[in-house]
Amino acid sequence: MPASDVPPTHPRYLSLITRERIVAGVERGVTSPHGLIAHGRGEAFDYLLGEATHLFAHEAIAEAAKVLKAARHPVISVNGNACALAAGDLVALAGATGAKLEVNIFHTSAEREQAIRNMLLEAGAREVLMPGRTHAIQHIEHNRKWVHPEGILIADVVFVPLEDGDRCGALVQNGKTVITVDLNPLSRTAKTAQITIVDNLTRCLPLLVQAVQALNTGTTDNANANADNANANANVNVNVNVNANANSLPDRTHAPLYSNSRTLAEAERTLRTGTGN
Ligand code: ATP
Ligand code: MG
Repeated sequence: MPASDVPPTHPRYLSLITRERIVAGVERGVTSPHGLIAHGRGEAFDYLLGEATHLFAHEAIAEAAKVLKAARHPVISVNGNACALAAGDLVALAGATGAKLEVNIFHTSAEREQAIRNMLLEAGAREVLMPGRTHAIQHIEHNRKWVHPEGILIADVVFVPLEDGDRCGALVQNGKTVITVDLNPLSRTAKTAQITIVDNLTRCLPLLVQAVQALNTGTTDNANANADNANANANVNVNVNVNANANSLPDRTHAPLYSNSRTLAEAERTLRTGTGN
């Protein structure tokens, strides 16, 4: 039966609804059929993580919010899976951070690039940059090297969820600070990015938007509060990374300094020990 016929009380309701979004993305030409396989890999990791946002993800979300907020020229790189799963939240993130949205896909297709652009515009985006054939980043050879001259080319921070390892590495080699979302802490992408949110894109994006909005309003620091609450709930002792540059961080007296290698180690430990469920 279609997932839309599944009652919300069904234990796999969210997973089934999310599958339906990806399938709809393929049907409307936004997502490549290969994207279904990438989604399946993500589902497997999410299952092992208990389909929950863990402390390590809350910490990465808090750090990502700070870095996006402090960025001079942030860009959100959108592919077919990310668009099908979370077009509205990506547009909301662009609004909260002032980041530009730019389309970039793995399998070359001008039609699919346009379909992604249209879906983002329908979701409320005011502007969506397209990769031209005039400007490219270095250290990568295929279709994904093409960038928009007012977008990724001059970006200091790139938020690029569900990315392949090659392109993530190329963005870093081009001097960008890269924030990714990847449920697999063992992937090349997860290991190459400076900030890796090991969580489902559909769960972490609303939290990231909230965290940026809290920083924007300067009321309470909800991003840090989320991480602190999760810390308390998980009752874990997180080591302080003494190598991090304390001068670049705001006052987080009760929160640990961010370390991406610790995030990945914690996520991997959760997977291997089966403590996600
Ligand atoms: P890499 O090239 O980085 O080693 P990969 O080849 O294993 O990664 P890709 O197919 O390039 O993986 O990208 C898909 C990645 O996105 C996978 O690691 C998968 O776990 C992750 N992923 C898929 N769906 C989601 C989702 N909804 N939220 C977060 N991560 C996801
Ligand atoms: Mg890959």
